Amino acid sequence: MSTVQIDGARFRDRFDAFNEIGATENGGVNRPALSDANRAARDQVVEWFEAADLTVSIDEMGNIFGRREGTQDGPPVLFGSHIDSQYNGGRFDGVVGVLGALEVVEAFNDAGITTDRPLEIAVWSNEEGVRFQPDMLGSGVFCDVFDLEYAYSRTDKDGHTFGDELERIGYKGDRPCEPRELHCYFEMHVEQGPFLEQEGLPLAAVEGVFGFSWMNVSFEGQANHAGPTPMNMRKDAMIGVSDVTRAVRRITATEGTDLVGTVGSVDLWPNAINVIPERAEFTIDLRSYDNSVVETAVQRIQDEIEAAAAREGLAYECEEIMRVDADPFDQGCIETVVEAIESRGYEYTRLVSGAGHDANYLNTICPSSMIFVPSVDGISHRESEFTEWDDILAGTEVLASAVLSKATE
Ligand SMILES: [Zn+2]
Repeated sequence: MSTVQIDGARFRDRFDAFNEIGATENGGVNRPALSDANRAARDQVVEWFEAADLTVSIDEMGNIFGRREGTQDGPPVLFGSHIDSQYNGGRFDGVVGVLGALEVVEAFNDAGITTDRPLEIAVWSNEEGVRFQPDMLGSGVFCDVFDLEYAYSRTDKDGHTFGDELERIGYKGDRPCEPRELHCYFEMHVEQGPFLEQEGLPLAAVEGVFGFSWMNVSFEGQANHAGPTPMNMRKDAMIGVSDVTRAVRRITATEGTDLVGTVGSVDLWPNAINVIPERAEFTIDLRSYDNSVVETAVQRIQDEIEAAAAREGLAYECEEIMRVDADPFDQGCIETVVEAIESRGYEYTRLVSGAGHDANYLNTICPSSMIFVPSVDGISHRESEFTEWDDILAGTEVLASAVLSKATE
């Protein structure tokens, strides 16, 4: 396998310049989807793509593609990530995958390499799902998971729709956003977890992504004065939340080694210091790479909810609002990444991702896999998100080798 040279200084200059767009005081970036800062970031990427002789096209969802022709026609090797951020998010999430992809193309240009297959870089719209839900909306429409009208109607907290905002920033393109034939898809991304750093490894070949269940739960009790009401006469909705939260922790500790569970959102009524809580609404997020582990955990949690309600004399409702199976990536693409890592002489491990990515949707229409680089302290979605520069360059070298391998097979 050829060892294309990455220009680390060029990449870093670009990375630093790019992250001045929407920069925050604390070293992060604030570029939520379809914001003015997101538009400026898009403009910058398009300018760089064109300077690298890529042919740029924008689709109906504002997904940006930069194409480099090969010596043959046929489906392209696609690779990329996203450039929208969380509110006051980090500089690395998504950005390393897009600017790394650009550096790969620049390195091919430098080396005078023309691949057999065409190459395309993809920049997906609204990956983060922080301003418009759900997340991974651009790749979701591209892969026919959501339809276009649904995506356009998504509304932010100020009442702006995705469609209107896309038009406002000038990125409602005319290329149809729909599945098309692709040879494969690669995405380099920060791990967003602690494993690589703990193991002292620069890289992971990502084998797949956890499946998950989301539940909405409510308890209905009785409000009353916190002073005169004896303890044995209370129907306290918060006690239900507390019992179930403890159960989630207990079950995730016993059900399977990779099972994780979170009660992340709680609303309480009337939410006052001297009133017994009458109503509570909360969410449960359960994830594992083993679908049967998720299924068993959901059933056990539902039993716990019923038992907690009975103990406290509460009415309850429990609805599973989303269930997504674990998603194994394509074995061929995983092995291409492994071979690319080994050809570059790096140490690595194989990992399963706890977080979803655009690559999950791409994996439904073409063979896909991912490359992870470490997240210092396992932190992401925060301004302090950090990845060592050497690790980013290692990931970019591996991306270059993997793309070259797939583009010449
Ligand atoms: Zn991301």
